[in-house]
Amino acid sequence: MKLDQSYLIYFMLLLIAMAVGCKELQKSENSQVSNTKVMEILAGMTLEEKVGQMTQITLGVFFKGGDNDHRPLPLTINPETLDSAFRIYKLGSILNTVNNRAQTKEWWNKTVELLNIKAIKETGIPILFGIDAIHGVGYTAGSTLYPQQIGQGASFNPKLVKKLNELTAYEMRACNIPWTFSPVMDMGRDPRDARIWETYGEDIYLAQELGKAAVEGLQGDDLSHIDTKHGAACLKHFLAYNSNSGKDRNPLSISARELKEIHAASFQAAIDAGAKTIMINSGLINGMPVHANFEILTRLLREEMGFEGMIVTDWKDIENFYDRDKIVSTQKEGVKLAINAGIDMSMVPYNFKFCDYLIELVNEGEVPMSRIDDAVTRILKLKMELGLFETPNTYQKDYTEFGGMYFKRLAYQASTESITLLKNDEDILPLKKDVKVLVAGPNSNSMRTINGGWSYSWQGEKVEEFAEDYHTFLEAVQNKIGHRNVKFVEGVSYDFEGKYYMEKDIDIHKAVKAAKAVDYVLLFLGENSYTEKPGDLHDLYISDNQKDLALALAETGKPIILVLNEGRPRIISKFEHEMDAVIHTYLPANYGGDALADVLFGDSNPSGKLPYTYPMYPNSLITYDYLPAEKQDKMEGLYDYESDVAIQYEFGHGLSYTTFEYSDFKVNTSTFDSNNEVEISVKVTNTGDRAGQEVVMLFSSDIVASISPANKRLRRFEKINLKAGESKNVNFTINAEDLAFHNYNNQLVCEKGDFIIRIKDFEHQITLTEDVAFNMPSKVKL
Ligand code: BGC
Repeated sequence: MKLDQSYLIYFMLLLIAMAVGCKELQKSENSQVSNTKVMEILAGMTLEEKVGQMTQITLGVFFKGGDNDHRPLPLTINPETLDSAFRIYKLGSILNTVNNRAQTKEWWNKTVELLNIKAIKETGIPILFGIDAIHGVGYTAGSTLYPQQIGQGASFNPKLVKKLNELTAYEMRACNIPWTFSPVMDMGRDPRDARIWETYGEDIYLAQELGKAAVEGLQGDDLSHIDTKHGAACLKHFLAYNSNSGKDRNPLSISARELKEIHAASFQAAIDAGAKTIMINSGLINGMPVHANFEILTRLLREEMGFEGMIVTDWKDIENFYDRDKIVSTQKEGVKLAINAGIDMSMVPYNFKFCDYLIELVNEGEVPMSRIDDAVTRILKLKMELGLFETPNTYQKDYTEFGGMYFKRLAYQASTESITLLKNDEDILPLKKDVKVLVAGPNSNSMRTINGGWSYSWQGEKVEEFAEDYHTFLEAVQNKIGHRNVKFVEGVSYDFEGKYYMEKDIDIHKAVKAAKAVDYVLLFLGENSYTEKPGDLHDLYISDNQKDLALALAETGKPIILVLNEGRPRIISKFEHEMDAVIHTYLPANYGGDALADVLFGDSNPSGKLPYTYPMYPNSLITYDYLPAEKQDKMEGLYDYESDVAIQYEFGHGLSYTTFEYSDFKVNTSTFDSNNEVEISVKVTNTGDRAGQEVVMLFSSDIVASISPANKRLRRFEKINLKAGESKNVNFTINAEDLAFHNYNNQLVCEKGDFIIRIKDFEHQITLTEDVAFNMPSKVKL
């Protein structure tokens, strides 16, 4: 019998649907199996055992001698601490490295295995080990480090971000660690913030897309059975962390509406992608520590955002209620507040008092047993989903690709794709390879500044001990054009023994003298490494020494290529006009030197785009999606005046060595309603003579809305590769929900009326013909 072709297609589709259906069924059965198993384990647990599962202690506590953070070598496990942690306190989780230093993967294997053996013997449950593997497994010697998140943001490349998270998970499991405190889903909207470089930048949609990619890369495809090549992600720091005044963990006043509109959306996207755990903001919102806020942890995160995973505190944050915030008069009261607000696990991290207090509180009826069971169910479920009950340990011998060529290439590619060419007067770049250059500036010869914080140590201060196989900017330039063509005078140096902002050996005159004998000056400025509170700063302008060096070098008349290597956008407006080219490298990690040299001398073409607005003045801090009231350039009438919020470089800005022409912009409709999608397309042609990558961005502006609408919002982007002369059509589809916002009642709505859709210089007006609401008004009260 000859089957009709359409019948055949139908039949095949049916088979595929059945296969997919079976897989779904299998998945839900598996998840039920794990739920049943969790219930069985929970039913047999004592209160002490349950509370132990909710406790997380830092690794340093388990070693002999010195103090928790400074253990003498050789590192030796303290059998007494081990015994009390597991036999008495039934500990469930451990974090961090010891002595604030990277260890070898062999050491990690042995150490975590030893802790696990004891945990399983005393509690029957494997431990959950967590680490800050935030740009690669930064606490393991020989692991592959990728550009910090801000550089990943500049790549605008979700596929790349997914891949490098997948590789991070692989190297993490090679170390016998199944859980990373990554990705950061905070919005990088305050340029003064010491942790803006840990974010994907200021844009909500960009953070959503890259956050999803990171979670998918880390956790893999089967969320009920995370395999031994993947691990659990931890979104942090929920919610609106460091969004005020640029000081780490500062209090913030904000409405529930803004929390949802600006800060929760990136977390929501990553939650929907299946993120297993979430860490809480160490700061205060409207006077209350977030760790104590039932409305945020339970009402918002659990009930409205639907997060079903495990909630962990940040470092010492329950103790902070008493020690720092003065909202309780005893530590025990703090434990009650946090657990009743919705915390599942406490990163205590140095002692077991949390266990004693929580047991007492449950016995006194101050914390209901149902809350404990809820928390422990989530913790056990996670351990089960990670396969820890069957495979409590993973071993480096099974991870033969660790640190291999593929990983290195990806790290190099990520560095290259992050590098952003901000200025290139008269196409001075790329440089020819037969030129003589002066390499100057405090960032020119340091692996520490290239990597930033969370690299081999918390503040990054130990990088040089671990990164000697890689090239600093200076070394990479020397390799590229030969040592004899490179003069090197720093002119200003960091005091690597002191605080991150300290400088020394100021010899600008020597640098100026050296500049006279070369064709170009490559000037590497920026910041030394830091994170968190130690990275707070007083003044967003780049240091005076660095500014003076730039101005003095400019006076020589030699062309200057300024290379920025910094965690946050330090202001350069006092000398930027004297620079012929400006390149931003962010914190590109170990391959950043090589990637930069390839860009400088034309072996690769830059494609990074700024993931934040680069400010021009410290009192003109603004994001690209500002509200109309934030930027009133001109007021006409009786008192005519100008008031400009000047910026140095726009969000999304980034040049290439080739040119791209946009044409054939098409939008399929001028009106739409809640049932339609709007289709937008544009043709992009590489009109230059070399291959390049372009990020095509679609923005929208709401013309009138009941809450003052943003100037514009990024709604879609796509990064494309184009050979010289090649063209590609890029298609986007958006609907009313993509254009929605939270109104005054904190409800996600799209109000009828006009919108402008914009790609590059093209724009088109579309009209929504009806009001649409996408959920009920939020019940969160702040
Ligand atoms: C940081 C977190 C980090 C945690 C564990 C805290 O101080 O705020 O981002 O994950 O320490 O190291």
